[in-house]
Amino acid sequence: MSKELENLDKSYVLSTYARNYVNFKKGINATLYDENGKDYIDFTSGIGVVSVGHGNKQVANAICEQVNNITHISNLYVIEPQAKLAQQIAKLSGYDVATFFANSGAEANEGAIKIARKYGETKFKKKKYKVITLEHSFHGRTITTVKATGQQKFHSPNFAPYPDGFSYDTTIDDIYNSIDDETVAVMIELVQGEGGVQPFEKAAIQELAKFLKQNDIFLIVDEVQTGVYRTGEFLACNLYEIEPDIITLAKGLAGGVPIGAVLTKHKDIFEPGDHGSTFGGNYLSTAAGLAVVNILENYKNSGKLDETIIYYEKKLNEVYERNRDIFLDSVGLGLMRGLRVKDEKTLSDIIKKSLEEGVMVLKAGKNTLRLLPVLTISKEEIDEGFKRLENALSKIS
Ligand SMILES: *Cc1c(COP(=O)(O)O)cnc(C)c1O
Repeated sequence: MSKELENLDKSYVLSTYARNYVNFKKGINATLYDENGKDYIDFTSGIGVVSVGHGNKQVANAICEQVNNITHISNLYVIEPQAKLAQQIAKLSGYDVATFFANSGAEANEGAIKIARKYGETKFKKKKYKVITLEHSFHGRTITTVKATGQQKFHSPNFAPYPDGFSYDTTIDDIYNSIDDETVAVMIELVQGEGGVQPFEKAAIQELAKFLKQNDIFLIVDEVQTGVYRTGEFLACNLYEIEPDIITLAKGLAGGVPIGAVLTKHKDIFEPGDHGSTFGGNYLSTAAGLAVVNILENYKNSGKLDETIIYYEKKLNEVYERNRDIFLDSVGLGLMRGLRVKDEKTLSDIIKKSLEEGVMVLKAGKNTLRLLPVLTISKEEIDEGFKRLENALSKIS
């Protein structure tokens, strides 16, 4: 890649990421092309975001049509695509929910925590405000959601003090003992994403959901990564057959346009003035979101999503079985997959070599190779991507 662009980035963009210097110019579904015309199979979908593929014409056309007309007015006026997207979310979730729109996953989780806190303040004689989350969770990068995140490495004293009222448990079973009369909510991912692609057991989650309901404690499910068909159903909650009080979405919802969503069946906790956002749910993001969920609804109903998941799993397991000297375990659900690598050094070598071989993969937790392919990835792209991954593996000592 040209040194000039690398220097621009290094001089003018604050350095908060371990950047790869590849200059992508074009994308078609799960294939990307850099400035030299080299192609890459994208097993990351921009960290679970570009759910319907790069350069998706239906989404692009919906966005163009919308922004040629109106991009933004403000939430002081009704926004037609926002109302329609909220309706689609309720329909596809199967739950009787209303939605608040934000701009990111962290912001969606902030909204969820605010709903729970208001419930805890107004519903009980003695205020309840504590939120229990799990170790290895990830809930965002704002001061509050980073505190909600159960990973010590994110709680740097540089950013202290953090808000009170968050604690972390190691397992689902530990939650029962941590609950006290000030606990207002438990917030979990059903498959921990950033923490290492770790799905929880269905029976344990169902039991927890039941217990929380009986005790009037909110269950908040962070589906920022698992949501919008990533695990095979519209929501991972559908797969786990639970009905939480609050669900958050973001990553895959609008095909790359920033969006966040807080879904709740408690439609009257928030009143006008309680919460808001300048950009949240504007014409641009919700027109994009509407196009994305419509595409994916058809894709799921036609059986193609399930077919893609089965094919991807089959190829993944072949690679896993052939490389048991490198991989310890194969984990995940749907198109949210992980391969546990024997050590951290080997994992970073694999990620680097994979990019050289023309396949993009992710890291999660300490030693998990994470795969979040475009949901509409083709069989040819799957074959080619795994071929390149194995080429990379063959060059690892
Ligand atoms: C990515 C992620 C977030 C944070 O989303 P942002 O859009 O980066 O704020 C929160 N929760 C989960 C489970 C995530 O995967």
